[in-house]
Amino acid sequence: MNALNNNTTHSCARPPDNTNNSHTMRLHLIAGYIEQIYLVEYPDKLLLLDGCSYNDVPHVLDFVENTLCRPRQDLKLVTVSHLHPDHAGGAHRLRRLVGCQIASLNKSGQWYQGASGLAMYSIDSVLAWYVAYRQRKPLKPLLYCPYLFPDYQLNDGDSLPGFTDWQVLDTHGHTDRDMSLWHPATGQVYVGDVLIKLRHKYVSPFPMYFVKHYYQSLQRIRALKPKYVLMAHGGRQAISDAEWDSILQNAPAQRRTVADTIKHKLLWRPKPKNEAG
Ligand SMILES: [Zn+2]
Repeated sequence: MNALNNNTTHSCARPPDNTNNSHTMRLHLIAGYIEQIYLVEYPDKLLLLDGCSYNDVPHVLDFVENTLCRPRQDLKLVTVSHLHPDHAGGAHRLRRLVGCQIASLNKSGQWYQGASGLAMYSIDSVLAWYVAYRQRKPLKPLLYCPYLFPDYQLNDGDSLPGFTDWQVLDTHGHTDRDMSLWHPATGQVYVGDVLIKLRHKYVSPFPMYFVKHYYQSLQRIRALKPKYVLMAHGGRQAISDAEWDSILQNAPAQRRTVADTIKHKLLWRPKPKNEAG
């Protein structure tokens, strides 16, 4: 795993390979705007495991050209785990600049569909900026086309086009279209936002739309017995059995959305004094 920065404008000092991956594949971790970005390098091509934020795109291309010393056109495929700003925001921009293709899970319609979708997209963008503010990052452009037009819509069990060593998993719950990617040869699974590590604790993402499916998704990832779980927020982690037990025990029992939270706050009334206690 290589923690890297983008101050690499005049030399091609490739990072040392300490990933213990197969000799045909190297995994690079790039610090994104508010998330971690995983770039997979092969001798003849590159794969980006998620669509990153809109403003991460120059940073990713700089890494490809000035750290890996490769042409940007080597980036052949960008997968989009789900439609949130730090996972889908850079996908169309990368395709426009590089000519790569985009793959996502096969779900009908758009996640940010119609007027309510546009409202949700606005809220999610503000939440992403809030995360940046909390991380003491400068406010940068995040807005992108809320409708995704992928080249490939993949089903559970499919292999990634051109990268057949990666297998698609439908792990929805956080949204209706969360896609995880399993790499059996190295025992690594990229989970997007399905699981998050905050400081020393694993937590479920917010919002949470499909509680039952989310729990099944967690069980499914655990059943893979991954050597490493690659998270967009929390890095590359080896998760112990005891930690998995705790993650499953603490999985949310009820859906949690911005609308539900507002409704809950508005409907909340303090108990009359004679009912207290
Ligand atoms: Zn998300």
